Amino acid sequence: MPRLNGKPEFAVIGLGRFGSSLALTLAERGFSVLGIDRDRAIVQSLADRLTQTVALDSTDEHALRAVDIPSFDTVVIAIGSNFEANLLTTVAVKSLGVPHVICKATTDRQRTILLRVGADRVILPEHEAGCRLAQELAAPGMVDQIALGVEHSITELRVPPSFVGHTLRECDLRRRYGVTVLAVKRGEHLTVFPAPDFTFAQGDLLAVIGENQSVARIAELK
Ligand code: ATP
Repeated sequence: MPRLNGKPEFAVIGLGRFGSSLALTLAERGFSVLGIDRDRAIVQSLADRLTQTVALDSTDEHALRAVDIPSFDTVVIAIGSNFEANLLTTVAVKSLGVPHVICKATTDRQRTILLRVGADRVILPEHEAGCRLAQELAAPGMVDQIALGVEHSITELRVPPSFVGHTLRECDLRRRYGVTVLAVKRGEHLTVFPAPDFTFAQGDLLAVIGENQSVARIAELK
């Protein structure tokens, strides 16, 4: 498959709700996506929205080789309810030499097994969505978070009301909370590394880096 603008190419195996959302979103963002499912009807329903679609049984290594799976940068295995198929597919894709294999699991035990047979990353979408929702309910000011290890993160926060009309220097986040503001988004405009005299306005979104506990304290400010 030819590379589009040197962008990485993806294959998504298993086009259920999770796999099809992932594949369609990547395709809408301009990436080349091969969608694979053993169900012909599912494959046909997505054929004109993905770069390429193929109906095959992904536990069959020969079938995967025939569609040149080793040429893909990242393969996502999005088979949830049939763990045996997920496991056999992971082993096949890894043994074909794909550098980055991401698998979907439904339990921690499945996750451990998939990592042991060579998956590079395993996600538990329902567990992760539950944690994110809990975080959002516990600290409504928090919009999104990227974990950096266990205790630190980069977090997107709504500006606390008490910061509005005050400068970054006055809010003194680094000294008071040990948190650094990386960027402030105001509408469509992004200010990267705002200067000390940057004044916060209502509706600002802050990207901050720091310890999770300190960030949570800021997110809870009134
Ligand atoms: P969802 O993402 O909808 O929650 P799920 O986690 O319940 O899905 P399944 O329904 O088990 O996962 O599988 C997702 C897709 O993977 C289905 O469309 C199914 O046809 C496909 N699939 C399952 N086993 C294989 C296989 N061996 N080869 C190719 N596709 C497969």
